Amino acid sequence: MKIIVLGGGVAGVSTAWHLANSGHEVTVVERCATVAEETSFGNAGMLSYGYTNPWAAPGIPFKALKWMMQDMAPILVSSSSFNARTANWMFQMLGQCGEQAYRINKRRMLRISDYSRSCLDKVTQQVPLDFDHRTKGTIELFRDQEKMDSIGADLASLQECGVEHEVINHAECIQHEPALANVSEKFVGGLRFPQDGTGDCQKFTTGLALHCRDAGVQFMLNTEVHKLEVTSGKVTAAHTSGGELTADAFVVCMGSYSPMLLNPLGFKLPIYPIKGYSLTLPLLDPAKAPESTVMDEAFKVAVTRFDDRIRVGGTAEIADFDLSLKEKRRKPAEFVVGDLFPGAGDLDNATFWCGLRPMTPDSVPVIGSTPIVNLYTNTGHGTLGWTMSQGSACLIADVINNKAPEIDNEGLSIDRYLH
Ligand SMILES: Cc1cc2nc3c(=O)[nH]c(=O)nc-3n(C[C@H](O)[C@H](O)[C@H](O)COP(=O)(O)OP(=O)(O)OC[C@H]3O[C@@H](n4cnc5c(N)ncnc54)[C@H](O)[C@@H]3O)c2cc1C
Repeated sequence: MKIIVLGGGVAGVSTAWHLANSGHEVTVVERCATVAEETSFGNAGMLSYGYTNPWAAPGIPFKALKWMMQDMAPILVSSSSFNARTANWMFQMLGQCGEQAYRINKRRMLRISDYSRSCLDKVTQQVPLDFDHRTKGTIELFRDQEKMDSIGADLASLQECGVEHEVINHAECIQHEPALANVSEKFVGGLRFPQDGTGDCQKFTTGLALHCRDAGVQFMLNTEVHKLEVTSGKVTAAHTSGGELTADAFVVCMGSYSPMLLNPLGFKLPIYPIKGYSLTLPLLDPAKAPESTVMDEAFKVAVTRFDDRIRVGGTAEIADFDLSLKEKRRKPAEFVVGDLFPGAGDLDNATFWCGLRPMTPDSVPVIGSTPIVNLYTNTGHGTLGWTMSQGSACLIADVINNKAPEIDNEGLSIDRYLH
C-alpha cells in the first residue's frame, strides 16, 4: 500500500519505520526542515516504562490549587492564553480524576509503555542507533519523610498493575546514584523503577529517519499539511504546501496539532498542548552527575544523564499554543540540578528549550483506526511520547496491516471520544 504519515516527530518516524518494514511504500510529510524539531527535540529523555502515571489522578484538583501558589510550581495556568479550548480541556481532565478513571487510564498507559520496551529492544537489535541509551532505571527521590510515608496508595496501584518497583532507603539511593552522596542531607529515600531507561529522543528519531530512508521511505520536509479531503467516507487527498497528495492510507502523527486536521472532519479530539521546559547542560564532571534519571518528587523535575550532557526537564504550563521561552521557568530546572548534582554540569552554557506535550484529558494516547476507513491516528502521547513511541508504532502498523495486535488495544483508539 502507499501510505502517507503526517508529522515527523518520534511518533511519525517510528510509524514510518514499522510500516516500511512491513513492505509499504511510505512518505512522511513534515513542515520543519528536518525530523524531531518540535516536541521530540528536547524532552527529558526518560523511558518511563514503570514511572507511568496519568496526570488526572485523585487529589490532583486540590494539589493543583496548592501548586499554583508556589514560586516553582510544577503546574501553571497562564491567564493570558486562557480560552474556551483550554477551559474545555481542563473540564474534561478534571472529569478523569476519580479513582476508577485513574485505574483504567493507568492500565491503558502501562499496556502501551510496557510493550514499548520490548519493541525498542527489537529496533535496536535490527539497526545500529546511537542515542545515549542507558538502562539503569529511574529513582523518584523524596526530600521529606512525611511524603515518603504517604506513598502507600501509589505502591498498591503499582502492585495491582504488576509494575516492577522497589522502595529504597537513603543508602540504596546512593548505591544506585553515587553522586547523591555529595548531597546526602537533601533526601530521605526513593521509589525505584529498575526497568526504566533513558535516551535522547531527537538523536534516536534522526538516526531512525536515516534507516527509514535506506528502507525506501520518502521524506517531504518543509511541507505544511493544510487539510484532508474526504469523499464517501474515505480520505482521497492531503492538501499540503507541496500540492495535493494521494495515498491508500493516511496516519496522523502531528502531536499537539493533530486536532487541527482531524476536528474539521467531525471528530472532537481533545488533544491539548501542555507546554514543558528543559535545560541541557554540557557534562563537567561525570562523578558528580546522575547515572540515569532522578525525578525530584518535590518539584516534579527530572534530571537525566546522556553520555556527555545532562538533561533537566519539567514544568507543565497551560498556555494554549504559546511557544515563548519564559526565562523565569528556568528556575525550577536550574535549582534542582544545582541542588542535587552540584558541579556536574555547566549551567552557564546550558541550552534552554520548550515544547508542547500533546496531551489527552485521560493521558492515554490515541492509536488506531477511525470511522474514516483509510485514516489512522498515532498521536496524543502527552508526557510519555518518547517512552511509548515504539509500542505505539508497532501497534498502528499491526492495525493497518489487519494483523492481530500483540497487546490488547482496548480503549486506545479515537473510539473513546466518539460517544
Ligand atoms: C519538557 C518535556 C519533557 C518531556 N519528557 C519526556 C520524557 O522524559 N519521556 C517521554 O516519554 N516523553 C517526554 N515528553 C513527551 C514527548 O516529548 C512527546 O510526547 C513526544 O515528543 C510527542 O511526539 P510526537 O511525534 O507525537 O509529536 P512532535 O514531536 O511534536 O511531532 C509532531 C510533528 O508534526 C509536525 N506537524 C505538526 N503540524 C503539522 C502540519 N500542519 N504540517 C506538517 N507537519 C506538521 C511537527 O512539525 C512535528 O515535527 C516530554 C515533553 C516535554 C515538552
